[in-house]
Amino acid sequence: MISVRDGQNQILAQISEPTPPELLPVTRARERVLAEDLRAPFDVPPTDNSAVDGYAVASGDVPATGTRDLDVVAELPAGAVYDGLLASGQAVRIMTGAPMPHGADTVYPQEVVERRGGLVRVGPTRKSANVRMRGEDIQAGTIVIERGTVLRPQELGLIASLGRWQVLVHRRPRVALLSTGDEVVEPGMPRKAGQIYDANRFTLRGSIEQCGGEVLDLGIVPDVRDELRARLLEAADVGDIVVTSGGVSVGVLDLVKEVLHEIGAIDFWQVAMQPGRPLAFGRIKSAHFFGLPGNPVASMLAFMLFVRPAIFKLAGRRRLFPDTAEATAVEPMSKRKGRREFKRGVVQWRNGRWEARITGPQGSGILSSMAAGNCLIVLEEDRGDVAAGETVLVEPF
Ligand code: AMP
Ligand code: MG
Repeated sequence: MISVRDGQNQILAQISEPTPPELLPVTRARERVLAEDLRAPFDVPPTDNSAVDGYAVASGDVPATGTRDLDVVAELPAGAVYDGLLASGQAVRIMTGAPMPHGADTVYPQEVVERRGGLVRVGPTRKSANVRMRGEDIQAGTIVIERGTVLRPQELGLIASLGRWQVLVHRRPRVALLSTGDEVVEPGMPRKAGQIYDANRFTLRGSIEQCGGEVLDLGIVPDVRDELRARLLEAADVGDIVVTSGGVSVGVLDLVKEVLHEIGAIDFWQVAMQPGRPLAFGRIKSAHFFGLPGNPVASMLAFMLFVRPAIFKLAGRRRLFPDTAEATAVEPMSKRKGRREFKRGVVQWRNGRWEARITGPQGSGILSSMAAGNCLIVLEEDRGDVAAGETVLVEPF
């Protein structure tokens, strides 16, 4: 048996190079991973500018006490720039964000002054009031967004504000996906006695898409040695990663093992976890291979624990693991020491705290336990049964 952590480390150690970069328009880069350190090509803001609608003046004209009348020499609409040099006794009407006129260093908000015809009456204020300084947000040349960042809408806006319309992002990792088993049939087709509809290819393709991979769906392979070998070789030709489900336990027809020993370098692991103990990991040609268990909950969980961080690393992401939080167990939970258990749970803010409960029966084939839940409740190896009121770790999904 190996621990979850050791398994994860061994897998990540095999993934050295991220996928190559490609240039994409910003409009198509959401959820992609930045493949360059994005630097500011100019100061932001590019010039000193006004933080308010009001009047720009030279601080030398600001009265220490009482008031002073200044000549309004220009009215600048948004986007207009004052070319002249502001002389003593003068003010310019200015809009939020407009560049400060030469000679001006202070702005009065329009609400605090009195405008009379061509004059504006001003009182004491602080030098540089209501001026945003050139480069106060970002200085030219500094890194604004680091390589390995997943681009959310706010990053896209930031990139656009720097004048860029294209960015370098990592190519999506290609994940070839197969279900195995003579009993597994395609949804939409008639189902004979003894057959089950394929669930795993659908949870897994959704999971692959969710974490930024491109799915290459190679369908269902029957438990026939030559066919399995051919499909796995084909999968390794098209995918950076090959994922199968089923066929890694110890049944007579669990051919995945045998075939993989012929065509690749594969380890078979018993991971100290529940659900989802058996896992195959290795290589077929240049592709990374994951053989996930057949039970639907186990295959999805094994994906979350082992395949997702691998896809993330291949995609160039900096963060490979999700955040966890603490919650209070509101019911007892059975737990066997020596393995990590993952209950499907519901976590809710109640009674002034995060409360966690289990979603009914937890069998590894009961996919509805995943659908009813919004988190994994993670119970560590050295822990025994959990009593109501104890603190548990939750990982929202
Ligand atoms: P196996 O590891 O192939 O022995 O499969 C373990 C269990 O998972 C069996 O009950 C299979 O019928 C079931 N199973 C395997 N593949 C799938 C699949 N793609 N969708 C739903 N259940 C599956
Ligand atoms: Mg099978």
